[in-house]
Amino acid sequence: MQKRKIVIGNLKMNLETVSMRKQYLKDSENAFNKEIFENVNVVLCPQNLYLESFVNFFKEKNVVIGAQDCFWETYGAHTGEISPKTIKSLGAEYVIIGHSERRTLGETDEEVSKKCSTALRVGLIPIICVGYIGQKEDETLAISDSIESILNNVSQEDLKKIIFAYEPVWAIGSGKTPSVDDIHTVVLYIKKIIGKKFSSEIIDDISILYGGSVSPENISNIVTQAHVDGVLIGGVSLQAERFAKTVKIINNLLKK
Ligand code: PEP
Repeated sequence: MQKRKIVIGNLKMNLETVSMRKQYLKDSENAFNKEIFENVNVVLCPQNLYLESFVNFFKEKNVVIGAQDCFWETYGAHTGEISPKTIKSLGAEYVIIGHSERRTLGETDEEVSKKCSTALRVGLIPIICVGYIGQKEDETLAISDSIESILNNVSQEDLKKIIFAYEPVWAIGSGKTPSVDDIHTVVLYIKKIIGKKFSSEIIDDISILYGGSVSPENISNIVTQAHVDGVLIGGVSLQAERFAKTVKIINNLLKK
């Protein structure tokens, strides 16, 4: 049986007023139209303040909700941080960790690894972003450092729950994407690192996504030729109609 694909929408720090959120939900009402996606798991990640309202709104629409970051402790004296336990108790199921927009602010592999372990502990599914952000000469080195650091701290059972998203920074929001062959090469590289550390038998259980300027226009090629388990979408997820269209294209491709 074909593995279900995963589509994650990262709304970032957008829909910044209550009326913008209202409009987005109204647009989503029409765009998602009580659709059943037999072949795709859809996850939408709004700002934390909207988690609860998104969980309530989207539960009827087969879209689950995730956060865009979390802290590595679950409670205590950590002013301004967001507890993964709170995210989970609000009904969200996923959390993006280590997005390049956070790494450019100084987030390290060690912090990403700690956040990942705590997210797993409270029952959230971590979506770990990996990719070159410019501090290292070599993209593969940056990717292997990030993954190694996580692999050192998780069990094989937990590893299977983690989703990895390969996101070359130059492709984010730029309208440019790597070739499907280049994406496939990195996907194979990530699998190789994991296979070497654990066992090659588990690599097919791990989901590896691509993110960076995905749109309804390029999604068919990416899904059919880059051998990814899904995509992480930024800009396009802000337009409910185009986001739903992208999901529908993937769903239909897998029906064939
Ligand atoms: C992202 O920020 O993770 C992303 C993939 O953005 P975009 O789709 O806009 O390139």
